[in-house]
Amino acid sequence: MTAEEVKEMILNGADKETIKKALELIYPGAMQKIKELLAIIGDNPDREGLKDTPYRVVKSWLEIYGGYKSNTSKLNTTFSDNIGDVEDSQIVMCKDIDFYSTCEHHMIPFHGYCHIGYLPDKKVIGVSKLVRIVEHFAKRLQIQEKLCSQIADYIEQTLEPKGVGVIITAEHLCMKARGVRNATSKMVTSQMRGKIRTQIQTREEFLTLIGLNK
Ligand SMILES: [Zn+2]
Repeated sequence: MTAEEVKEMILNGADKETIKKALELIYPGAMQKIKELLAIIGDNPDREGLKDTPYRVVKSWLEIYGGYKSNTSKLNTTFSDNIGDVEDSQIVMCKDIDFYSTCEHHMIPFHGYCHIGYLPDKKVIGVSKLVRIVEHFAKRLQIQEKLCSQIADYIEQTLEPKGVGVIITAEHLCMKARGVRNATSKMVTSQMRGKIRTQIQTREEFLTLIGLNK
């Protein structure tokens, strides 16, 4: 049983007991442990509102932590026909890819936007794949710095482009709801490699396209 198969079951309208059994195979013992946690927090896990909470929490992991189970072979369909000699000035970009991830220090969400640009050499990739790459690395316990570099690494390795840039801006609920309680700050991380780093005009263009070069 894979997470994808369980998601499929849910989409096809499987009943709760069947889904529960499938979740138990993927995340053994998890529902029982969530029930224990609810009691540790100070609530009564048997009260009406919480009765199904362990089930719902674990079911949500299929999405929130789905990146651990997703398959990279689906991500890297590249196209290499007929792009010929690409000018060094041709940036391929996908910006404003929104994502949700979970901070590995507090298990509290952070969310924001990822902007990806690259200078193709011989290979390009479908834009929807860029979105999937972001999801693959976001849907797990993360820190923003690592998310940014993993996406850049992946694009470098798969497309061998002349340059790649990844910029992420995100809001961290662990900073808003607790800790320093700063409601407006955003964290920005960037990875610029190859000619997107070294060729000043290209870098400027990349930042202008994202809208960060004001
Ligand atoms: Zn945190």
